[in-house]
Amino acid sequence: MTTPSAILAVEKLSVDFGGLHALRDVYLELYSQEVVGVIGPNGAGKSTLFNALCGIVEPTDGSLTLNGISHAWPKTHELADLGIARTLQGVGLFPDLTVLENVMIGATKFANSGFISAAFGRSKDEARLRERAMLALERVYGTGFAHRRADSLSYPDSKRIAIARALVSEPKILMLDEPAGGLGEEDILWMNGLIHNLKLQCSVLLVEHHMDVVMSVCDRIYVLNFGEVISSGDSEKVRRDPAVIAAYLGTGVE
Ligand code: ADP
Ligand code: MG
Repeated sequence: MTTPSAILAVEKLSVDFGGLHALRDVYLELYSQEVVGVIGPNGAGKSTLFNALCGIVEPTDGSLTLNGISHAWPKTHELADLGIARTLQGVGLFPDLTVLENVMIGATKFANSGFISAAFGRSKDEARLRERAMLALERVYGTGFAHRRADSLSYPDSKRIAIARALVSEPKILMLDEPAGGLGEEDILWMNGLIHNLKLQCSVLLVEHHMDVVMSVCDRIYVLNFGEVISSGDSEKVRRDPAVIAAYLGTGVE
């Protein structure tokens, strides 16, 4: 039996900002229906890794394969077609649009014509987008908020809507940047369950500071420190790795 290809594989990724090596020779694989965590102290390079995968920063070196096929580093406008979606570290909803409209904006790749006009102008497109957006809202248990203005939501509720907006494009790879950040204990448990369920539909790449979330939802974890992968494996392996313990000693990672 052959091993299935990773849906996403990064090799020898380096990113320099001037003289600073933000990432050096980073490797990472993500398989179908897997939740993979990227952890590391502040400044380790986690956001830079996400940004390289999303076309926000340009790698100095390295290669990317998607489903076993070599691919140039994606540009931001190609992400939806490549089946990649991300949430932002902040929430990033349009405050004076409704929740449903915010989620519909994530689905405009399914429309025949351009962006806002497709979402809000043409009745056939609009009905289709509305339906997809409602389904995405259902997946985060958010249909009850559909017609509220985004700025009337609590912070935890707006985080789940941001996830619905990413899900509506039906990504194969969902990148979540600190989904549990700023949440209280009860909402963290809820987010934990949601991430766990998400992998039934897609693979998840997760940057998260809450170690209990990372340890409980991730199938595998990569640990970055000063731009390099210092450990990778399942949570037990990573938790006990002396290199990880040493890198975190004194940095107060929970
Ligand atoms: P993390 O997300 O793990 O906290 P980052 O990826 O944000 O780390 O940062 C990695 C390193 O790269 C840090 O030293 C940071 O200061 C630097 N860095 C990040 N983005 C930029 C940028 N746009 N220009 C210059 N330096 C940057
Ligand atoms: Mg960061």
